[in-house]
Formats: sequence, structure tokens, C-alpha cells
Amino acid sequence: MTATPPPRAPMQAAEFLSGQEITTTDCRRCGTQIAGINGRYSCSACGWVNDWSEGHTDLPTADDDTAA
Ligand SMILES: [Zn+2]
Repeated sequence: MTATPPPRAPMQAAEFLSGQEITTTDCRRCGTQIAGINGRYSCSACGWVNDWSEGHTDLPTADDDTAA
């Protein structure tokens, strides 16, 4: 009998989520409470999105895109 290794996907998901900061805010256009990650929001009710520069983390630059 061999021990079954724990499933991988949940571990990877938890690892990914631990690096994310999930916050909520009120949509500035329609007032619906919406959730965002790292300070970036998009409203599913009216389509409003906040400016990318309001995010809490830096966006990757073209230099970070090694696949280009
Ligand atoms: Zn909205």
C-alpha cells in the first residue's frame, strides 16, 4: 500500500491566494459593493473599473515580459 499524495491544485491555489490582498469597495459609479484584488476593482453591475494606478502593487513592465 502506498500513501496517496495530497492533491496538488488546492495547495497551488492556496499559495497563489496568500500573495493576493482581497479588499472590497463601493463602486464609484453605481454604489454596488464589489471585491477586488490588490486595490484593483471592476464592477459587475455597471462595468466601472478603477484606474490601474490605484492598485497596491506595481504592474509588470515590458521588461518583465520575457515571452514577447
Ligand atoms: Zn458599478
